Amino acid sequence: MSLFKFSYADGQLLQIEGVKVRLRVSPRARRITLRVDRATGEATAVAPSRSALREAARFASERRAWLRAQLEDVPPPAPALIADGRLEVLGQVWRLQPDGRRPLLTQPGLDGIRQLRGCGEAEVDPMIVARVVRREAKTAFAASALVHCAALGVERPPIGLMDARTRWGSCTPAQKGRGASIRLSWRLALAPWAVADYVVAHECAHLLEGNHGPRFWAHVRTLVGDPAPHRRWLRAEGARLHGLLATPRA
Ligand SMILES: [Zn+2]
Repeated sequence: MSLFKFSYADGQLLQIEGVKVRLRVSPRARRITLRVDRATGEATAVAPSRSALREAARFASERRAWLRAQLEDVPPPAPALIADGRLEVLGQVWRLQPDGRRPLLTQPGLDGIRQLRGCGEAEVDPMIVARVVRREAKTAFAASALVHCAALGVERPPIGLMDARTRWGSCTPAQKGRGASIRLSWRLALAPWAVADYVVAHECAHLLEGNHGPRFWAHVRTLVGDPAPHRRWLRAEGARLHGLLATPRA
């Protein structure tokens, strides 16, 4: 593996299949150790000396599945996507205005920003925000699925929402007189739009192929291009989406 041909530096950040691993030299360390920092979403591989960093990188790489599980199974860090009263939803910036009015989402202004008025009395109420995000997500996902299904030559099934921690979407094919259906995590609305759109395309492609074989991925590629960056994003950042807003009662 070419990963191990280069020399490594103290403090260097590696990306090992979507897992961020920081290399550290600590003369006090007696052997190579790995630890997971849930706040930063990074793992740190500590080696006793600089010459042992290569071995530390290999050690981390061999344990990447474990590292990924550690990093995904955590309460996400502070909601980085909400800053200065702004939230990015479906690729658009929303400005959150808790002004005690009835919730109202405006169309994008000249600066491209949408106002979400009435998302609380004096402070932002995450429940109100989540309800509006869900509503907008359903509309956007349904529109996106319409485009993908047309490209695949299939009829678009009903689109439902879910809030599962372990998966982003599901597709139930038609069977025994029951029509097909697709369900998508509403939290994808808080991911970059390209990532959300990839998941929509992924589930639409399952209407033709119920597996993850070469023909399935060929459909996905036709719809959204190379899926690898989107899958990496979900592995690295996806867990964070679960900490952003509360789950609203439907
Ligand atoms: Zn799938």
